[in-house]
Amino acid sequence: MKRREFLRIAGAALAADAVSEAQTKPPSRLTVTGIRIYLVQVGGRHPVLAEVLTDQGLTGVGEAAVAYGSGATAAAGMIKDLAQEFMLGRDPFAIEAFWSDMYDNTFWAKGGGPIVFAGISALEQALWDIKGKALGVPVYELLGGKVRDTVRVYANGWSFRCVNPDDFSREAERVVARGYTALKFYPLATAELDPDGHIRHVAKRSIDRAAEVRAVESVKAVRAAIGPKVDLMLDMSGELTTDAIIRLGRRFEEYDITFLEEPVDAFDPDALKEVSEHVNIPIATGERMYTRYQFRRVLELRAAAILQPDIGNTGGLMEVKKIAAMAEAYNMRIQPHNCASPVSTAAALQLDACISNLFIQELYPFRIPEHFALVDHAPELDVRNSAIAVSSRPGLGVELVESRVRPFLWATIKA
Ligand SMILES: [Mg+2]
Repeated sequence: MKRREFLRIAGAALAADAVSEAQTKPPSRLTVTGIRIYLVQVGGRHPVLAEVLTDQGLTGVGEAAVAYGSGATAAAGMIKDLAQEFMLGRDPFAIEAFWSDMYDNTFWAKGGGPIVFAGISALEQALWDIKGKALGVPVYELLGGKVRDTVRVYANGWSFRCVNPDDFSREAERVVARGYTALKFYPLATAELDPDGHIRHVAKRSIDRAAEVRAVESVKAVRAAIGPKVDLMLDMSGELTTDAIIRLGRRFEEYDITFLEEPVDAFDPDALKEVSEHVNIPIATGERMYTRYQFRRVLELRAAAILQPDIGNTGGLMEVKKIAAMAEAYNMRIQPHNCASPVSTAAALQLDACISNLFIQELYPFRIPEHFALVDHAPELDVRNSAIAVSSRPGLGVELVESRVRPFLWATIKA
């Protein structure tokens, strides 16, 4: 054998050994050494972020998705308790084991609601972020791999300063002019007209005839403004009683509504079923339902067509993956609820990439710049033709901007 030939064969053998070693050698074991909790205040919203620290310098981020309504401090406190009791010293790769431990041993997780599951969700997402970064892959590679490269999104939040049908019409036209092919609004909500653009939902479960007329006129005006090719969704936020939403929902039918969201209370699947039998619009629900256990009855009753779990408060990425699989077996689609910081949007897009029965992703693209500046590259800034290309950066694909979140540091948990 000539020397050159020998070297070639020897080199190939060495390379094969290296590949084989890389394929069989487990990554060195990481340990969780601390958790930072940020209670952010930005643009009238209050995102709750968890940053999990490890002994090898890798960090992961997750969000407890209660950025609106009451309870952000409670969610931060829940993250603190979970971090202290369950996370320090743990292997961040063992995510299923972590989830089971929370579920079995927090006591309140069984039958629990938004606070306990927002806390679990934030930490769960952070662990996926760490695992992705440690292995050098985006999270979708750990959840089955991509079934799509881009995710279609719909615009929400554009209507929060609208008062009359003309306002809705004008603003909807502007959204469509920016390339969106789907949009949603709240026909019964009223604008608070505060600097941060909040809306108020119906109280005491009833509206007068004038409010009903205004709602129908607003839907009519928006449909006329956007034309027949754009998807229009309506969110009722569980505002009315069953009889009242059936009456109103029937009046919406002629405007080609893609889905009617939360027509009744989240915890009344029988009422949801009743609405679905009387209103000829697909029903969507799920942003206030926690874990696969609470979705089970909606599936069994076939009370909805589209499920909207929020990755940041229903139990995390894997929990929504499981809910999506259950929904698929019942011929239903998934539209992850998303109304928090860009961390939640990044997590949603990673999951959207790898669930086959995805319908569309909710997005708030019109927040103030400070909201998007919480991370190094907010996915909301990448919308093209009503779609976002899925990030292939390792982990969830976003990094917290330290100078932006530091003023909101609420607690640091260390071993
Ligand atoms: Mg909603």
